Amino acid sequence: MEIIDSPALMTAWADKTRIAGKTICLVPTMGFFHDGHLSLMRKASDIADEVVVSLFVNPIQFGPNEDLARYPRAFERDSGLAEKAGISVLFAPKAEQIYPTGFCTKVCVSRLTETLCGLSRPGHFDGVTTVVAKLFHIIKPHYAIFGAKDFQQLAIIRKMVTDLNWDVRIVAHPIVREKDGLAMSSRNSYLSLDERSQALCLSRALQMAREEVANGETDAAKLIRKVRDYITASGDVVIDYVAIVTAGDLTPCTRISNDSLLALAVKIGRTRLIDNTLLARE
Ligand code: AMP
Repeated sequence: MEIIDSPALMTAWADKTRIAGKTICLVPTMGFFHDGHLSLMRKASDIADEVVVSLFVNPIQFGPNEDLARYPRAFERDSGLAEKAGISVLFAPKAEQIYPTGFCTKVCVSRLTETLCGLSRPGHFDGVTTVVAKLFHIIKPHYAIFGAKDFQQLAIIRKMVTDLNWDVRIVAHPIVREKDGLAMSSRNSYLSLDERSQALCLSRALQMAREEVANGETDAAKLIRKVRDYITASGDVVIDYVAIVTAGDLTPCTRISNDSLLALAVKIGRTRLIDNTLLARE
């Protein structure tokens, strides 16, 4: 495994690889790897000849009161795990290599960014699309893999790629969970033991909602109320949102159908967690 920090060297590697007729799959990450990240890397290896994992805690996707400074970092451990996963390149630039002095360009997707997480994290998705656009240009991947845990991010990136006629195929990876159902996240490391058990209310609420739908519930507003009540009853947590939207375009649903997605964001102590599920009816 090569570790590359310079964008110019990364592009030289990508050009050489493409000229050799090999395909490249990119796995963009912010590091502090867990089994979710490793599962994305394994899928990438199945899809393409060469896998590039980017490890970059992207400063411009964090708001002023968010956790940029304390975001968990463990470079040595991460590079060991990536090497074991058999990837070709770990691309780990410094912030000033991605955003040199004077950088003033933004890539923004409208509409899809103006709902759900976009409401409580203004500017977040502009930061995501800007860095992903840069990564696509630097690494020139044929494929890029994103996790369905961040389903809004996935929908926004798909839209960016379609709208800008980008020749990169976006691949979705299902949510990877702990044995007890908690969606894996680097931010789970912030949770105290008590908070860790409170955090189970997210995946359990989703499970409860799937059961309600299997038992015939079709009214989105009613289901949202039940989910909110379930989460509120499970402890001292703060709901950011509970929403039912159409999976592709994130518009709100009133009736539940096969492409309805239930999404939620909940604050457990100081930690904001997200989770989601499709509400397909059997
Ligand atoms: P992050 O390092 O948190 O920015 O995540 C990097 C990539 O891994 C993103 O595409 C995430 O959606 C994906 N990811 C993170 N956690 C999970 C998970 N539990 N299951 C599936 N994908 C995940």
